[in-house]
Amino acid sequence: MGARPTMRKLMGVSASPGIAMGVAHFLGGRVQVHERRIVPHQVEAEQRRFADALVRSDAELERIQQQIAAKEGDGHQYRILEAHRLMLTDVHLVEETRRIIREELASAEWAVRRALDQIQAVFDRIENPYFRDRRSDIDMVGEQILRNLVGVVASAHDTVPRGAVVFAHDLSPADVTQLGRAGVSGFFTEGGGKTSHTVVVARALGLPFVVGVQDFVQHILPGMSVIVDGGRGELILDPDDAARALYAGRAVRELARAHRLAAVGEAPAQTVDGLRVHLAANLELLEEAPVAAEVGAESIGLFRTEFLYLERADLPSEEEQYAHLVSALTMLGGRVPTFRTLDLGGDKLPASVRMPAGSNPALGLRSIRYSLSQRGVFKAQLRALYRAAKVAPLRILFPMISGVAELRAAREICTEVCAELDQEGVPFNGTVPLGVMIETPSAAFIADMLAEECDFLTIGTNDLIQYLLAADRQDEHVGYLYHPLHPGILRAIRHIVASAARAGKPLAMCGDMAGDPLFTWVLLGLGLRDFSMAPRQIPVVKSVVRATDLGEAQALVRQIMELRTESEVEEVVLGKMRGRFPLDLTDADDDKPAA
Ligand code: PEP
Ligand code: MG
Repeated sequence: MGARPTMRKLMGVSASPGIAMGVAHFLGGRVQVHERRIVPHQVEAEQRRFADALVRSDAELERIQQQIAAKEGDGHQYRILEAHRLMLTDVHLVEETRRIIREELASAEWAVRRALDQIQAVFDRIENPYFRDRRSDIDMVGEQILRNLVGVVASAHDTVPRGAVVFAHDLSPADVTQLGRAGVSGFFTEGGGKTSHTVVVARALGLPFVVGVQDFVQHILPGMSVIVDGGRGELILDPDDAARALYAGRAVRELARAHRLAAVGEAPAQTVDGLRVHLAANLELLEEAPVAAEVGAESIGLFRTEFLYLERADLPSEEEQYAHLVSALTMLGGRVPTFRTLDLGGDKLPASVRMPAGSNPALGLRSIRYSLSQRGVFKAQLRALYRAAKVAPLRILFPMISGVAELRAAREICTEVCAELDQEGVPFNGTVPLGVMIETPSAAFIADMLAEECDFLTIGTNDLIQYLLAADRQDEHVGYLYHPLHPGILRAIRHIVASAARAGKPLAMCGDMAGDPLFTWVLLGLGLRDFSMAPRQIPVVKSVVRATDLGEAQALVRQIMELRTESEVEEVVLGKMRGRFPLDLTDADDDKPAA
């Protein structure tokens, strides 16, 4: 379709660091379509649904085409979209779909899927690689029609080649888990926020990820070579030799920096003036356990248990959970884990879990609310946890608590579970510490009350920031509002620290803010002493802690607490940190090609 495109750089938002180079693979989200038969009097309605979906798809393509035309005329990308629009009128697709609806009494989406499969089968038999590659164009168009029919996106992972860079409008945490395991080298998406759970998994797997790349459909073709620089939020399409050398150089320097930081090894996380800081790891998947050990995590401050189950079609039984917990405890070799009870909902939904979507899933029946409403599910997890606690020490953490009543309800179920285990004569340990995540504004305000009724607290800044600033952490359109150094956030943290201290309860922070070395002084200055983060962040945070004098951090906090806007605070903090730690926090070398 026209001349070879030329190199182009697109900017998105840095989500997971690292540099990936590979062939772009579009995961347009193969829409999950189930076979659905209709009765004759529904044929007309299904034909109408199909016709509407074609019209909507065409309008979407036209809109993008107009945007392109406004920027760069009717060049290569414009013509690709023209071809895509023509495919929407293709007889093999349109007439065949209509025939399947009419004659085989299939739902519109099932008929489209069948027609697409037939077309793909023809493409697959074509020897000429150019035409075979056009398969992906049909894919894009077909999935677009299906999305307009059913609205829900799922993915096909089996066809993604190892080393590919996967791009999609959006990806789920389960997509990234499976694709990461299948050996892809990086990701970029149009949607998504940098603290979404999808990104959390990419970081856990050490895979570069850029989110919020706008309108990439206009510029990228599947099969094109791409470079993703996750740390800088950059995307290079069809790089030339000079760009390849430049990014290879960056990758080498990043690796060297990681090695240098890792050399801190087992040295204690202690400030110059002798303050001991606790650095723990957040885990999502069992395969991260060795990394946590390698980087010297002292404990596991947050184990997001729901990630163990996102890829499954059903929720696990108590026995399966017990087995998982025991293998986690064994793999962790004495690092005490804090297991968070299921935090399902929002962007984390196993196929088996039916939750009312609500108009705003982030504020819906998720997390502890779901567990309290599904006592059977909650009790199975708690039983497994109390039984596992007999094998090795662990802690239990409740997510998204918004009030004392919820905490009491959760604690009561724990008491009930222990009484039942006792009665049944099943071995368990009933002295497990119970903690509360402070991640809703109400929990932050009543942290003093919660602290009196639990054993420990941990601040989940990812959610706390989203709720305090009323900015969905998954929505790229409000990503610009996500500012951990917003004065409102700083005051909330200060209040929580004071509340925990007054109640004499241990307090940690396990949101992403804890693992960003640019914020280490602010958090130390605010009084935090316990940080839990993605394991790969531990070396750099430790190197900052070891070069810190607490007095300096406290002075910085005194200065910023007077400031009124997040940009003023950021200017002071980032300026200070980048000035003091140029080698650890920035890629200070000039961008020169790798030798
Ligand atoms: C948080 O909200 O900060 C947190 C640690 O939990 P999650 O990112 O899993 O919501
Ligand atoms: Mg959270």
